[in-house]
Amino acid sequence: MSGARHVLVVGGGLNGLFAAVLLGRDGHRVTVLERDPAEVPDPDVAWEVWQRRGCGQFRLPHYMQARFRHLLEAELPDVADALVAAGALRYDVLAALPAAVSGGIRDDDDRYATLTARRPVLEAVVARAAAAQAGVAVRRGSTVRTLLAGHPARSGVPHVTGVVTADGEELRADLVVDASGRRSTLRALLADLGAAAPAEEQEDGGFVYYCRHFKGSGPMPELRGPVQQWYDSVTILTLPADNGTWSVTIVGSARDKQLRALRELERWTAVMRSYPLAAHWIDAEPITGVDAFGGPGDRLRRLVVDGRPVVTGLLAVGDAAAFTNPSLGRGASIGLLHALRLRELLRSVDGADPQEVAMQWAEDTATAVEPWYRATVGTSRSRLADIEGDRTGAPAAPDDRWALAKAMSAGTRKDPVVLRMQLEIAGMLALPPEVFNREGAVERVLAAGGGAPRYPLPGPDRAALLAAAGLAVPA
Ligand SMILES: Cc1cc2nc3c(=O)[nH]c(=O)nc-3n(C[C@H](O)[C@H](O)[C@H](O)COP(=O)(O)OP(=O)(O)OC[C@H]3O[C@@H](n4cnc5c(N)ncnc54)[C@H](O)[C@@H]3O)c2cc1C
Repeated sequence: MSGARHVLVVGGGLNGLFAAVLLGRDGHRVTVLERDPAEVPDPDVAWEVWQRRGCGQFRLPHYMQARFRHLLEAELPDVADALVAAGALRYDVLAALPAAVSGGIRDDDDRYATLTARRPVLEAVVARAAAAQAGVAVRRGSTVRTLLAGHPARSGVPHVTGVVTADGEELRADLVVDASGRRSTLRALLADLGAAAPAEEQEDGGFVYYCRHFKGSGPMPELRGPVQQWYDSVTILTLPADNGTWSVTIVGSARDKQLRALRELERWTAVMRSYPLAAHWIDAEPITGVDAFGGPGDRLRRLVVDGRPVVTGLLAVGDAAAFTNPSLGRGASIGLLHALRLRELLRSVDGADPQEVAMQWAEDTATAVEPWYRATVGTSRSRLADIEGDRTGAPAAPDDRWALAKAMSAGTRKDPVVLRMQLEIAGMLALPPEVFNREGAVERVLAAGGGAPRYPLPGPDRAALLAAAGLAVPA
């Protein structure tokens, strides 16, 4: 490959659109094919009118991490500005927490602030940037059904040269990017080409999300605890968003049949009322009912297997390559990181043959994305084991790494330095090993949060939770 290319992007979700804008600005010609036909509305009305069946989580809570803002402001500052103009919220957790918890504002605290919005508002802004970008064409209502490929003699693996849409149209390109999300059918498309199977790691989904959106007339509700609060059997998320809106979510185990009753508004409301640090977040005008969503499991897909690409001419980005379950709200930040690496790749591989490009992309993904994938899977697996233990009465096996993470979480209420360490990890500013390997970090975390009760935040135990929901408490 050399110089400016024609890139076909399969999927016009957040990452397909980010990739298109970034590559278009580098002089590539980009065609995005998005299955959903709806035209992009004005961000002001996106929440009300935009239907996106291709993205199951489109109307569910989304919170961008601080890293997302950092990347956006550095690399696409006009998109960051457009988001602010559309009402996105620059949210500074440290400024929002009581001074007794944050320790007051310190130098450099600004780095923990994020820029966040409801998904339709966010995506409408990015879609507008793509539509306005010279060299980028977004074709909505265009579904990719098949890949076109040849078999170059040298590599012996299929080389993708384009796609065929559901209408039978053939489109050729120098590079195809799979940005078709967590439901990407790439595995089957590659099998149709006779390619070897990609290597995949998959985790069971295990969480279920009971969510509701609200709108207020003033500032965000007071932040009395972290945006993600761990309690017996459930996690509570209070996630600020754009234009005076926010969401409140109760996250439970998908195996917790009793808690499925939280789909019912009255029970959901009664349960939320029993958490003193979060209850006031539901004292506002609801803009949705309670939506229940069984969260999908994580998946990492590799297109280089045993040191050899299974395909060339095609690279996967975003959820299509690495999907992380939503419990830590990292998918969009990881995806933007990945899209930026794609831009760097195309800047660096001028003249390289397709095999080298595939190998380099595998390495870039392993370096930039995989550590975040692993960190997310590790935390969510341990958290799920904890809430399953709450339900069954059989505690999860002891795990030193998880014990340290829990000590950190407990310690955030006692030590403002530990709070900032935790915000670095949650905001994707530093990976857990980077933080814990600093001199004195482990000792500090254990001093602040070691030996804390299993659930230090004030809230109901399982029996009280079930009682609040009007459910029978097992004898
Ligand atoms: C319940 C839930 C909550 C989440 N909350 C957060 C959060 O708080 N913070 C966060 O950062 N992340 C969150 N995420 C993750 C985030 O939504 C994803 O990481 C992000 O959407 C990935 O973007 P993408 O562009 O890779 O894929 P998607 O947004 O899924 O886009 C893929 C697109 O490809 C299109 N498509 C699929 N197949 C084809 C085809 N054959 N031809 C043409 N088009 C096709 C689809 O229509 C879709 O538009 C959440 C996810 C879920 C499930």
